[in-house]
Amino acid sequence: MFTHSIRRYSLTVNKVYSLSEIKEMLLLEEEEAFALYEEANSLTEKLFGKSIFVRGIIEFSNVCAKNCLYCGIRRGNKNVKRYHIGKEDLKKIIMDAHNDNFKTIVLQSGEVDVYDNDITEVIEYVKSKCDIAITLSMGEKSREQYIEWKNAGADRYLLRIETTNRKLFENLHPDDDFDNRLKSLMTLKELGYEVGTGVMIGLPKQTEEDLASDILFFKENDFDMLGVGPFIPHNETPLRDIKSVNMSMVLNFLSAMRLVTYDTNIPATTSMATLDKEGREKALNAGANVIMPNYTPQKYRESYKLYDNKICTKEDAEHTMEFTKKTVERAGKVLVLERGDRRR
Ligand code: SAH
Ligand code: SF4
Repeated sequence: MFTHSIRRYSLTVNKVYSLSEIKEMLLLEEEEAFALYEEANSLTEKLFGKSIFVRGIIEFSNVCAKNCLYCGIRRGNKNVKRYHIGKEDLKKIIMDAHNDNFKTIVLQSGEVDVYDNDITEVIEYVKSKCDIAITLSMGEKSREQYIEWKNAGADRYLLRIETTNRKLFENLHPDDDFDNRLKSLMTLKELGYEVGTGVMIGLPKQTEEDLASDILFFKENDFDMLGVGPFIPHNETPLRDIKSVNMSMVLNFLSAMRLVTYDTNIPATTSMATLDKEGREKALNAGANVIMPNYTPQKYRESYKLYDNKICTKEDAEHTMEFTKKTVERAGKVLVLERGDRRR
């Protein structure tokens, strides 16, 4: 019955879902959950065919001034060996990614301001040499800074809301203010970035209602990219004893998110593959249309551990296009070398 109602609406129109309908999707089990994944996959294939976009992620610095309770590279973790890839090396790594056929790269780091000018220079340099879409994931910055990077040529920005439950957000972020996070997201949209946000699934005290509200928030604000994944504990953080959710909850969330937000770009994330060794393949069959291999040079990966057992800290082959292509093919999909801009 429920499966039917999804089938009738979601594939034909951009249906509006209610909070209770979304919650119902999150609670589905077994066959009904599989039917939901199939619906999400059909919608994804209707919109994108079997194509999966690829973006290389470069974690260029783990220096962070913030102390988010869940994160392994929070400033309070004194066991982290801190590194920062300087601007000349970073330019070279991005040009290598371009030569390896990446049409998009994501520059991600902890949150400090000292390297912001370098990033402006890196963006300008890369944009003068080649056509590669640049996504930044460097946290909350001033409006002026966002403008400077946009003018330099940055295309997209990823900033997760982490949870739309204000109280929970405040408990997890000693340095952040919920309204400021929202304001940053709105500023990025206003400045013409393609904007991505997302949440962690399975945070302590997070309810199904919270998760359903997260999905409605994505829809109502029309974000372009939605990066979500399970919360995974890190043994040197205050949340070390919290257990992760099951992969099935992650997939329910992903599929519900696809059906509700329709034509957004949704990646199969590293945290999904860490939770379940076939996590990426499963995600690519439940609504995800993007894959993000790690393009960080090998020697730094061990030091960019946001959570325990993060995959691809050791495998050399992991960052190659060939490895990613195989993962995508195992999921029955086709890797495409395009920028993968939001399609409406
Ligand atoms: N400093 C930037 C970008 C790096 S963190 C920022 O905070 O936006 C990138 C993402 O990693 C965060 O948005 C968070 O959702 C995720 N993350 C951090 N710790 C995690 C954990 N323990 N489990 C799962 N995801 C985590
Ligand atoms: Fe720093 Fe981002 Fe980790 Fe928070 S989530 S501690 S801002 S790297």
